[in-house]
Amino acid sequence: MTDLHRLTIKELSNGLKQGDFSSRELTQHYLNRIAKIDPQVNSYVTVTPELALVQADAADVALHAGNAHPLTGIPLAHKDIFCTQGIRTSAGSKMLDNFISPYDATVVTKIKQANMVTLGKVNMDEFAMGSTTESSFYGATKNPWNLNHVPGGSSGGSSAVIAADLAPLATGTDTGGSIRQPASFCGLTGLKPTYGRVSRFGMIAFASSLDQAGPMGRSAEDCAYLMNVLAGHDDNDSTSAQHPVDDYISNLNQTSIQGLRIGIPKQYFNVDGLHIDVKNRVEDALKQLESMGAILVEVDLNMVESYVPTYYLIAPAEASSNLSRYDGVRFGYRCENPQDLNDLYKRSRSEGFGEEVKRRILIGTYALSAGYYDAYYVKAQKVRRLIQEDFLNAFTQVDVIAAPSAPTTAYKIGAALDPVEMYLGDLYTLAANLSGHPAINAPVGFDQHGLPVGLQLIGNYWSESQLLSVVHQYQQTTDWHSQRAEIAKENV
Ligand code: GLN
Repeated sequence: MTDLHRLTIKELSNGLKQGDFSSRELTQHYLNRIAKIDPQVNSYVTVTPELALVQADAADVALHAGNAHPLTGIPLAHKDIFCTQGIRTSAGSKMLDNFISPYDATVVTKIKQANMVTLGKVNMDEFAMGSTTESSFYGATKNPWNLNHVPGGSSGGSSAVIAADLAPLATGTDTGGSIRQPASFCGLTGLKPTYGRVSRFGMIAFASSLDQAGPMGRSAEDCAYLMNVLAGHDDNDSTSAQHPVDDYISNLNQTSIQGLRIGIPKQYFNVDGLHIDVKNRVEDALKQLESMGAILVEVDLNMVESYVPTYYLIAPAEASSNLSRYDGVRFGYRCENPQDLNDLYKRSRSEGFGEEVKRRILIGTYALSAGYYDAYYVKAQKVRRLIQEDFLNAFTQVDVIAAPSAPTTAYKIGAALDPVEMYLGDLYTLAANLSGHPAINAPVGFDQHGLPVGLQLIGNYWSESQLLSVVHQYQQTTDWHSQRAEIAKENV
């Protein structure tokens, strides 16, 4: 079969169960596509063909025995931020170019337990700091819709593999938008769950109070399959929640669009820099939801101007602390011929980290330093609380809040935005991380150059089922999520 990569996760699951094709055939099909197409996209940092085929054979045994999980035998790619035992975990950094983890992240363990097949590890901005994948030690990943553009970031490898049909599903992480924005730039569905819904154990830390893992796929239905595996409490992560887990697949039709109250924050749609094509496509999608019975309600989210400054204090502060462990002693890059201990620390870190990571460490260390802690870090934490209260107040009036996922479509590679311009592009995604709310991106059309546009829906705590369900129903009446980039149409 030459078109296995066109099937949805549900179709793959049924096809495997019915024996229409084996997991080995499916896995080999993706490996062939990766070998042929990925040199143009640069989405994989590490491909693991031997391991993938071993896992595929084990999946085929489970499928024959009739004790398969719905995802058994289905391939996926991991963002290279999840520790994988025996396979390099680089976090897109020279610092970890030689790092092989002695254990699996909980997300990886759960995926193994479902007998999924891991095709490899995919590219990302260094330590997940960025919005383009250009800060990766392994070079930029290309957007499958137009190879001169970025796929978004930091989970840009995850979005590119799916958009080029080089994996049907991928894991991502989102500290300030890194699932939703790349999903938006590549025309995919991506869910950032409520903080604490998915375990962070074994996920290389960027900013621990903001980091959250989640699924990326073509549709809400595809994401629901993966979410069923990812969600749940983990004794190894004290911030993971005890809250009961939903069955995200059977809940796909649970929420009625009829009467659903969608909040439209007026401040979000009057932002300078919101591209007109993005605004129009998002408004079209909202009209579509309205025609399906949703009620659009204007809400106030007054703190919008504080999102970028608050996030860009808290995230670097936590990063400067988290990244202090890379000292050239215990693991990771070590400089050659250190003169003494100080020289070892200094040169290992200077040579091992890239420019953006160093910038964040500098900002964060400054904000946490004795003389500035109260003025910057403590102040930012207070503003963070106000942002959360703004959302809690809005959720007394509406069920979900709608926004663009990003003010623009995908940038050109090397557009050389200065750091602050780049940070401003995160405007719409940061608040859900600061407040801990779940949020999803759904593809809603294209700009005048054929680059995808995304709608973001933010929900109240633990409303992942509702978000997936709303997007699923929208996707029953539209086909943006199933459109393919030219490069994905190459038959291999
Ligand atoms: N673009 C944001 C940043 O650079 C968010 C990154 C993320 O979510 N990992 O920090």
